[in-house]
Amino acid sequence: MILNLKDTFNKELPADRNTDNTRRQVFDSAFSYVTPRIPSAPKLVHASRSVANLIGIGPKDIQSEEFLKVFSGAKIIENTDPYAMCYGGHQFGNWAGQLGDGRAINLTEVIHKNHRWALQLKGAGETPYSRTADGLAVLRSSIREHLCSEAMFHLGVPTTRSLSLMLTGDQVMRDILYNGNADYEKGAVVCRVSPSFIRFGNFQILAARKDLKTLTALTDYTIRHFFPTIKSTGKESYIEFFNEVVNRTLKMIVHWQRVGFVHGVMNTDNLSILGLTIDYGPYGWLEGYDLDWTPNTTDREQKRYRFGNQPRVALWNLMQLANAIYPLVNEAPPFQNALDHFQEKYDEKYLEMMESKLGLEKRENINQILINQLQENLLLTETDMTIFFRNLADIKKDTKIDSEGNFLGSIKEAFYQPEELKGKTMEAWIDWFINYKEKICNDSLSDGERKVKMNEVNPKYVLRNYMAQLAIDAANRNNYSIVKELFELLENPYEEQIENEKWFVKRPEWAKHKIGCSMLSCSS
Ligand code: AMP
Ligand code: MG
Repeated sequence: MILNLKDTFNKELPADRNTDNTRRQVFDSAFSYVTPRIPSAPKLVHASRSVANLIGIGPKDIQSEEFLKVFSGAKIIENTDPYAMCYGGHQFGNWAGQLGDGRAINLTEVIHKNHRWALQLKGAGETPYSRTADGLAVLRSSIREHLCSEAMFHLGVPTTRSLSLMLTGDQVMRDILYNGNADYEKGAVVCRVSPSFIRFGNFQILAARKDLKTLTALTDYTIRHFFPTIKSTGKESYIEFFNEVVNRTLKMIVHWQRVGFVHGVMNTDNLSILGLTIDYGPYGWLEGYDLDWTPNTTDREQKRYRFGNQPRVALWNLMQLANAIYPLVNEAPPFQNALDHFQEKYDEKYLEMMESKLGLEKRENINQILINQLQENLLLTETDMTIFFRNLADIKKDTKIDSEGNFLGSIKEAFYQPEELKGKTMEAWIDWFINYKEKICNDSLSDGERKVKMNEVNPKYVLRNYMAQLAIDAANRNNYSIVKELFELLENPYEEQIENEKWFVKRPEWAKHKIGCSMLSCSS
């Protein structure tokens, strides 16, 4: 296994001079050197061939002893200096001070085919940023991270990637629901891969400490390596940079709303500066379309990070980022302008996205009305988001809208309580489908063309919460076949896969209130 090493973060930015692995506040630095913990009996559960390929690792290498050792933390690659990043963040709206990579260790960066990739182990032991926790991760949450990062990538959502999922052979104590029922679980390590793991919080901590020197160095570094289109320097480059982060974040959120992904913990330390989905914790996928849904039990009261609130939270987080880099510019209007336009731009991109989900050609006013009405209807009775949009493509220009609802055909499968499709609910749907049909009849796309286009944006397969839980339950019994099966299924989420129809179903009844399916916590 030969990697083309090219470290920059730990070469170009100031390091913590203290190299003890003790928990502490770290000043005047972007990171601290750390050494991954040696696992007692590492075992490869699953690796992504396509991610391996990205960094120049072939299929044979994946099976090697070297791969097992390096990506479980047992061996440090020669000529590398692993490190944990220093960052802060707002957690659930409150400034939390220093957080940092408490259980993530950056191994190195590689360049392959002209692309830079940072490799990072999650769950490989303590760092100066571990605070009161152990630096470890359990198999349950590692399966969720490994499967979901790759599922998101194949859905076309900007995300960090996951190279490998390893068991460490160690036991880790966790209290899943924070209710005093702690138990041992299998320990695991995931190797994440991303151009960079820098978060909003990396800038925030430096600003909070008035460390202008490191803040400038970090911002210049980020622009130099990851925002190559910015050619200006100084103030101008920082403003351009902020605008670009706004755009990338906005784009990411529109994708989340398109596929029904709820991140669950959109704290500023969990927002990537590159606009990539990062930190797969208590995330969840919408089953019934519900703007108020959040999978995270820690957020059950406030529901700050509910599905429908993700765009607003993104804007709030961007405002915190603006505050952090403000001292580099010392002028508020450029930041204010960028933030002021967020809502307008978001509405525009959201409309475009919804038009694509409905297979509509542009005709703004009509489409907007149709989309608003649809969103109201989806809330009338529990309606599966994925199935509804996927099967909506079966509606044809000559579908006859009857009062019994026979026109719904395969769309009926999306309703959790089909018996509720009567009275006012049925009338609302009939009304909507009459309008929808009128619109598609006026558009130039044929039924077939519209279906092809719709199927490119409405996935057939997503990682439903219960699916991840089935993989976890089996894995806890030493059966990793569902991890592999789901991984492969989700590599082609837009394709019809006849043999996999069993995964194109509504959430089963047993999963409605089950821990891990509808209820998740940050305990991972
Ligand atoms: P999260 O909200 O899960 O992304 O994590 C918030 C902070 O807690 C980050 O600084 C993490 O590194 C840290 N953290 C989470 N879990 C652990 C753990 N098991 N050990 C050490 N630090 C952790
Ligand atoms: Mg985090």
